Amino acid sequence: MKKKIVAANWKMNLTHKEVKPYLDRFLATVGEINEVQVVFIPSFTSIPAFADALEESPSFCELGAQDMHWEKEGAFTGEISAAMLQALQVKHVVIGHSERRQWFGESDEIVAKKTAAALQAGLHPIVCIGETLAERDGNRVEEVLERQLRKGLGDCSSRDLGSVVIAYEPVWAIGTGKTATAAQAQEAHAFIRSVLVSTFDPTTAEGVRIQYGGSVKPENARELMAQKDVDGALVGGACLNPESFARIVRCAEKRQPTSIT
Ligand code: PEP
Repeated sequence: MKKKIVAANWKMNLTHKEVKPYLDRFLATVGEINEVQVVFIPSFTSIPAFADALEESPSFCELGAQDMHWEKEGAFTGEISAAMLQALQVKHVVIGHSERRQWFGESDEIVAKKTAAALQAGLHPIVCIGETLAERDGNRVEEVLERQLRKGLGDCSSRDLGSVVIAYEPVWAIGTGKTATAAQAQEAHAFIRSVLVSTFDPTTAEGVRIQYGGSVKPENARELMAQKDVDGALVGGACLNPESFARIVRCAEKRQPTSIT
């Protein structure tokens, strides 16, 4: 069974001192989870504290990073390599988040290099794609998603694709409080899957998890994740509150305890 994947992107928020209290509150709220993979994606400085705290936590909780460099090592001041992440039990890495594309000039070519480097190192890349409002208004959603997908995945093989998660994050919905409707999300996800079918093959494409990201909250998460091609969520703002994030995770689990739904 394809497990849903729900990830908490802390962005540049919270310090390592807040890791343990956050995780304790999250676990106290979330209850038993069997069908969801949960990924915590803190800033680099909080990764060691998360790695320690997760040693005592249920196995559905895993660790991710917000970015990495594509080179294995060398003179790249300020950068972090795949090996450095792996040494701290990191399993997932976000690649090409729209904030990196917007503020740090990350192009599709850079996304492809980082995706390839992550795969080569054995990390699971979460490759982010999504259109701006101007692109949506200009009827360019499919053109943009197809370009970001094909270029960003680079020379990925079908086998590699099994380790990749795609995050569809419409830029106009990130941090704005404007969520794509469930129908808009499903339409984009179905299109992304169709591009994967034509680039790879139907079985491989069906196995890929496509997360939705963009103002996901406990109030809209269930409907979004109930869509056929929505295999999870990448959560920014709402994940900073551990109880809210726990409620979003519960929305991805079929069996619901009556206490928190
Ligand atoms: C994100 O940062 O990936 C994101 C989806 O943020 P938010 O949930 O705040 O829109």
